Amino acid sequence: MSKACIIGWPVAHSRSPLIHGYWLGKYGIVGSYERQPVRPGDVAAFLADMRARGFAGCNVTLPHKEAAFAAAVRKHAAARAVGAANTLWYEDGELACDNTDGAGFLSHLAAAAPAFSPRACGVALILGAGGAARAIVHALLSVGVGEVRLFNRTQARAEEVAAFFGARVAAYAWSQLARRAGDAGILVNATTLGMHGGGGVLSIDLAMLPARCVVADLVYVPLVTPLLAAAKARGLTSVDGLGMLLHQAVPGFEKWFGVRPQVTSELRALLIADIERQ
Ligand code: NAP
Repeated sequence: MSKACIIGWPVAHSRSPLIHGYWLGKYGIVGSYERQPVRPGDVAAFLADMRARGFAGCNVTLPHKEAAFAAAVRKHAAARAVGAANTLWYEDGELACDNTDGAGFLSHLAAAAPAFSPRACGVALILGAGGAARAIVHALLSVGVGEVRLFNRTQARAEEVAAFFGARVAAYAWSQLARRAGDAGILVNATTLGMHGGGGVLSIDLAMLPARCVVADLVYVPLVTPLLAAAKARGLTSVDGLGMLLHQAVPGFEKWFGVRPQVTSELRALLIADIERQ
């Protein structure tokens, strides 16, 4: 029987067991996916022991993503770009890691905005400069987006990210957003603004965006954030954060259980019902 888990502290809130449990049932796999609360400071010890305890690998949630990245022997490109890992497995007996947020974002973007072409996009506007923003920058650059403009409350943090990724990425003051948005092909909210339960309010005027611009929000509680509602009201294509959450789980399941799972409307409905219970 194959086993995988999610480690975090706390870990009770994670929706990953719902996603992987659905796939285990759908594909008739005899296996398990469980929550493992791991205290800060205990991550390296847990991971050193993980295989002996029968796990094929794990997902990683806050606050352990950097510690998991540090503990892995083989660090794949997206994890290196973010400096943090959310998916671990074994390759030739060695602990390997990646960060699947960017790939999950791209998969969902392709499904939700099929007319969007990264190469024809021109400019991407990213709000935020945390781990999620880094993952999105890496992903968009990897598929050929020409220019990324970063806007973050703490501009110095955006400048660090821009310096890491090089000439195609630049950081601007938040106050510059309206002036720098007229040629954008996509705008992505990678901040916590708009999140249910105190994320703060994201107040930007979407009138500045061209009609072709896709608007994506990584926040998925609520499912339709004020940003996405405003994008819809303006007739812009909108891309929610739930699809990214579902698609980022695909590579881990495939590594641990040997089947590449599908993100189905049934799975999405399961997650929406769970979010609405919140
Ligand atoms: P993080 O590293 O903590 O970064 C948080 C970001 O939000 C920073 O850019 C921060 O700006 C900004 N921020 C926080 N409060 C703010 C405020 N009051 N005003 C303006 N900016 C504010 O978090 P993360 O891991 O990158 O996650 C960012 C968001 O993405 C979260 O909402 C998370 O749930 C979501 N996410 C979704 C998925 C998915 O699968 N859909 C996956 C990963 C993350 P400063 O630098 O100035 O603090």
